[in-house]
Amino acid sequence: MLVIDRADALRKQLDAARAGGLRLGLVPTMGSLHEGHLSLVRRAASECDVAAVTIFVNPLQFGPSEDFAAYPRDIDADLGLAEGSGAEVVFVPPVDEMYPDAPRTSVHVAGLTEILEGASRPGHFDGVATIVAKLFNLAGACRAYFGEKDWQQLQVVRQMAADLSFPVEVVACPIVREPDGLACSSRNRYLGPAERTVATVLHRALSGSASALAGGERRGAELRRLMAATVASEPLAALDYAEVCDPATLRPLEAVEGDARLLVAARFGSTRLIDNMGVSC
Ligand code: AMP
Repeated sequence: MLVIDRADALRKQLDAARAGGLRLGLVPTMGSLHEGHLSLVRRAASECDVAAVTIFVNPLQFGPSEDFAAYPRDIDADLGLAEGSGAEVVFVPPVDEMYPDAPRTSVHVAGLTEILEGASRPGHFDGVATIVAKLFNLAGACRAYFGEKDWQQLQVVRQMAADLSFPVEVVACPIVREPDGLACSSRNRYLGPAERTVATVLHRALSGSASALAGGERRGAELRRLMAATVASEPLAALDYAEVCDPATLRPLEAVEGDARLLVAARFGSTRLIDNMGVSC
């Protein structure tokens, strides 16, 4: 496995692989790899000839009061996990390689980014879209693997790739969960033992609303109320939002007819977690 920390070296390596007829799979991450990330790496390795993982904690997507400095970093463990999952290239640039100077250019995906996560984290998706655009430009034509865990991010990246004509096929991968239902996340390691126990409430809220829908409840307001009530039943959880949205536009639905996405976010102490689930009727 090749470990690269310079952008021009990554570009040359991937250009050479493509020139040799190899299909490239890109897996952008912020590291602190867990089973969710590794499912993406394994899928990229199985569907492509070369799986390239990027590990970069992107300062642009963290707000001033967020956890950029404290975000978990464990590069030695990450390299072993990436290699064990089939990665052939890992790109681990230092911050000044990606941003030698504060960038004056920002990628903004209008309409999808002001709501849900964007409302709670102003500027977050501009940071995400900007770093993903840079990584797509460095990687060139490839398939890029993203997790449904970050459903809104997936829609933002898809829209950006289409709008800016990146030669990239965005591939969505299902959410990987712990046995008790908690979605794997690098931030789970911030949770204290009591918080970890109650954090399953997010999945319970989503599942409860999905069951209500299966039982005939179509009203968006009622499905939202059910999720909010489930989260409120756990004193250690503070709800940020519970929404029922169109899966692609993320517009809130008055009533579910066809496909919808349930999305929740809540704080457990100082740790903010998100989760979502696809439903249809
Ligand atoms: P992150 O390191 O949090 O930026 O995540 C990197 C990629 O891994 C993103 O495409 C995430 O959506 C994906 N990912 C994170 N957690 C999970 C999970 N539990 N299941 C599937 N994909 C995930």
